[in-house]
Amino acid sequence: MKTVAEDPNLKGNHGIHYWECPIVINRAWLADCVYGRASVDEFIHTWVHESLHARGLASDLAILEYNQFPGYEEGVVDGLSRLVMKKLTKYERQEHPYDSYVAAMEGLAEALGMKPEELLRKLWAKEDLWVSKGVERAISHRGILGLRFESCPPWFSQ
Ligand SMILES: [Zn+2]
Repeated sequence: MKTVAEDPNLKGNHGIHYWECPIVINRAWLADCVYGRASVDEFIHTWVHESLHARGLASDLAILEYNQFPGYEEGVVDGLSRLVMKKLTKYERQEHPYDSYVAAMEGLAEALGMKPEELLRKLWAKEDLWVSKGVERAISHRGILGLRFESCPPWFSQ
C-alpha cells in the first residue's frame, strides 16, 4: 500500500502492476473503503486484477504487446478478475473501460468452441505475459476456419 506521494504513478489509479512483478494499491482508496466512501468489492476486484498481472516476469515482447495492444493482457486479467469476484462475492463489474477487451476474449472463446474461463486460464498461464502468443497457439490448436499463424504477428517484425 502506498500513497500518491510515495508512488506518483498511483495518481488517478487505484492500483498498478509493475513489469518486475510488484503491485501497488492506493492507500487512500483503502481508507475510503474502510470509511464507507468507496466500494469494497471494487477494491478487492482491483487487488485481484493487479495480482493476476503479477504472475510472472514480462518478456520484452509482452511489454511491447502491452504498450501497443493492452487489450490482450487486460482482457485476460480483467476477465479472470470478474470470474473470481463473481465466485467470491457475487460482484459483477459494470461499465468499465476494459469491457470491450473482456468481450473480445469471450468472443474468441466462443469462436474456438471453449468456455471463456477455460480460454482465460490457458492464456493467463503464459508466465512471460505474452498473451497474443497464447492466442496464436489456441487458434492453431483448434485449427478453426482454416486459420493458422505461421509466424509472429506483423507488429513484432523488425
Ligand atoms: Zn490491468
